[in-house]
Amino acid sequence: MSEAPVESQPAPNFRAAQFLTSASKLSQCPPDEGWEVAFAGRSNAGKSSAINSLTGNKKLAKTSKTPGRTQLINFFELSPSQRLVDLPGYGFAKVPQAVKREWTKHLEQYLQQRQALRGLVLMMDVRHPLQAFDQQMLTWATEASMPVHILLTKADKLKKGPAKSTLLKVQAQLQIHGELVSVQLFSSLKHTGHPELHRVLNAWLTDASVYDDDDEGPWTETAE
Ligand code: GDP
Repeated sequence: MSEAPVESQPAPNFRAAQFLTSASKLSQCPPDEGWEVAFAGRSNAGKSSAINSLTGNKKLAKTSKTPGRTQLINFFELSPSQRLVDLPGYGFAKVPQAVKREWTKHLEQYLQQRQALRGLVLMMDVRHPLQAFDQQMLTWATEASMPVHILLTKADKLKKGPAKSTLLKVQAQLQIHGELVSVQLFSSLKHTGHPELHRVLNAWLTDASVYDDDDEGPWTETAE
């Protein structure tokens, strides 16, 4: 049986991003249609800075950091069919264990069940990559065959040599996931790594071929 081709989308205009809505569970998310890319990372990993720098809009990530919204999934619209999704920062949040368990469950459900989700951008401080919860996110995503692109953030904090060797080390550790997971160095401060990130996001938000098993995904470009 041949399926109808997924309609191609216009190139995403990240600067057009506008806050759409917040959700604390799957049932509160906007209709599961169109295409979206989610951003995740430990608190302080540089997620807000990366989203600001991508969209050129400081207000967006601030929206996500507004008290009461930090544990929510925040949706930003690029076009009627394309969205960026800011997932709750995990790690240092001062919330009771029971609450943490509850939103961890919602996060897992979002990653595993959301049809519109095309890929996950996972941010890790280049000095502390692949911590326990990062691994958990990777497991959830890869179990759902969800492509993951890792940003090793604050790359400016390391000299070129150590940054490159961290990149190679992380790439080696991720090899078990094959083409599903890619990784790059990134710095919001120094504006490095943006073209690479744009390439991945443009492909996820526009290119139906990322779902063809036979095709090489665009993320392989970064996994040299
Ligand atoms: P979030 O909690 O993951 O949203 O992290 P933020 O974006 O708020 O960043 C946490 C801290 O790291 C802030 O003090 C930022 O100024 C700093 N930071 C973020 N990105 C960079 C970067 O590329 N380079 C450097 N040196 N610091 C950064």
